[in-house]
Amino acid sequence: MKIICIGRNYADHALEMNSPLPTEPLFFLKPDTALLKDKDFYYPNFSNDIHFECELVVRIDKVGKHIKAAFAHKYYSHFTLGIDFTARDIQQQCKENGLPWEKAKGFDQSAPISSIWINKNSLDLEKSEFKLFQNGILRQTGLPKDFIFSIDTIIAYVSEFLTLKTGDLIFTGTPAGVGPIQIGDTLSAALNGQVLLELNVK
Ligand code: MG
Repeated sequence: MKIICIGRNYADHALEMNSPLPTEPLFFLKPDTALLKDKDFYYPNFSNDIHFECELVVRIDKVGKHIKAAFAHKYYSHFTLGIDFTARDIQQQCKENGLPWEKAKGFDQSAPISSIWINKNSLDLEKSEFKLFQNGILRQTGLPKDFIFSIDTIIAYVSEFLTLKTGDLIFTGTPAGVGPIQIGDTLSAALNGQVLLELNVK
């Protein structure tokens, strides 16, 4: 399986990163070794500035390529929350030197996700919100209605380039409020008030 991550899908986050708004979806990949489920996160020694980016995650249910946006809803049925951990210091170096982002984004354990999956029929995405708490303090609030590119648009776009396979995950981008983590932190993420993900930084 592969992990597809969308960048700059909320205007407020693009603004806080001093990044221009994208005119088409921007995506990058994390390898399957980035997945972290129900375990603590160990701060890696190659970075001094790991940031959390809480994101709504979509699981692909069906193989597809060249998927039309109008049919994209047939390719997923569940959501959860995840964190796109980012080595911001390394990402900055990569950006300045025009280098790929893998070292900053694709490292081991950089993609914790909840093991609780929410059926899309059980929630109204347009009225949903997710929140990320760091040591109990609210850091991020994401409203999927504020997506620059909808899930269906993202699936249509990405599947022009990559065949989507069952079990692939799409991280749909993070809202404003990203920030650094410290050893000893507890992060928790809730969707519509239900805590789906909790992890300790060690
Ligand atoms: Mg992200």
